[in-house]
Amino acid sequence: MNYYSTKGTSAPVSFQQAIFKGLPGDNGLFMPEEIPVLPSSFFDNLSKLSLAEIGFEVIRPFVDGEIPDEKLKEIITDTLSFDIPVKKINEHIYALELFHGPTLAFKDVGARFLARALGYFTARNNKKLTVLVATSGDTGSAVANGFHNVPGIEVIILYPTGKVSKFQEQQMTTLGGNITALEVDGTFDDCQKLVKDAFLDDELSNSLNLTSANSINVARLLPQSVYYFYAWAQLSDEEKQNVIFSIPSGNYGNLSAGLIARRMGLPIKHFLACSNANDTVPMYLWNGKYDPKPSVSTISNAMDVGNPSNFARMLDLFKGSHLKMTEYISGYSFSDDNTRNTISKVYGLTGYVLDPHGAVGYMGLSDYLSSNSGTGIVLETAHPVKFNETVEEQIGSEVEMPTHIRLSGLEKKSIPCNSSFDDFKEFLISKLS
Ligand SMILES: *Cc1c(COP(=O)(O)O)cnc(C)c1O
Repeated sequence: MNYYSTKGTSAPVSFQQAIFKGLPGDNGLFMPEEIPVLPSSFFDNLSKLSLAEIGFEVIRPFVDGEIPDEKLKEIITDTLSFDIPVKKINEHIYALELFHGPTLAFKDVGARFLARALGYFTARNNKKLTVLVATSGDTGSAVANGFHNVPGIEVIILYPTGKVSKFQEQQMTTLGGNITALEVDGTFDDCQKLVKDAFLDDELSNSLNLTSANSINVARLLPQSVYYFYAWAQLSDEEKQNVIFSIPSGNYGNLSAGLIARRMGLPIKHFLACSNANDTVPMYLWNGKYDPKPSVSTISNAMDVGNPSNFARMLDLFKGSHLKMTEYISGYSFSDDNTRNTISKVYGLTGYVLDPHGAVGYMGLSDYLSSNSGTGIVLETAHPVKFNETVEEQIGSEVEMPTHIRLSGLEKKSIPCNSSFDDFKEFLISKLS
């Protein structure tokens, strides 16, 4: 299976090339040339399959033999080693809990698969690889955890000092081994600029084998389609007839993955694209105008994106048609006050603790289901403990850390640095060559 660029000016590439390059040279995004429709026997048996078994059937056509089946099965089983349960919130609304992985957010799924797929090819090619990643917190934690101890791969994470949560910092700085954390005296944008400049630097790109673990990598996107199937499989036969997914969105990777699942034959009736004050995509859905803006800060900060990268994939899937897109997707935008009220209201009525991102998705569903029938599933993208200050204020009690997370006892190891590219380059050359 080849991958083409949404801009259409770069030549198509293999799965392996797409995941190593991350981005096509023309600055588009990679898309699979074909989205296969899975056979009806697969859907009939879905409720009897495990998460990893579903994962294998869904991902296999996109890898198309570039990783042998047995190895791919092993990679997927290892990637999806935690459950992704559907929990009932009220009569018509369920939460798909994507936060039972090691860093308590859905990004674990994509980061773990990307790490293992890159690890497989790196071992075969017998060439060392360096992953550079700039993070405002969540991506860095998921990437650090996903790539830890993958042979042949060094990971360099750049994060802005003082601007990530304690939990995120511990997850990036305590693993050691092949994970190096650079604590940059600057902002997230400074970190991102250093990484971009490194990729543009001829000397670095010729001497070091660099790649990024950015969220637009197809190996992060495709495994996210898997949990839509797994969620659907957990519903009753009657509920399965009329399913609406609500997706709290930032860069719209999760939503794009859901659209791919639907193309593969999963009978999803409608999608809700839910955002906070960063309403670029909902505005497009409402009025057909795509008008990217600088991001604004909110309490659902993993969705503070003003120019979402995966919008190009959404457009591509609907061949650029606004009309077609709005047939399947409705847009919503909510304020922080709405979000806070929803966390306390849902907790009071049902005892379910939403995180701020899930609360945004929940509001979209409540609104949609007030005038449409169906069963709603909201993607709960992060564990509420990751946003405990906001959540505890609303529910009036403590949110406990899940028992599988060990935090204390490990020593923070980070390398402080400034935002000068020359210093960063020197560091990379001395560390890696
Ligand atoms: C990354 C993230 C999102 C946004 O997901 P996209 O796929 O970029 O739309 C939502 N919630 C949480 C908790 C996240 O970490």
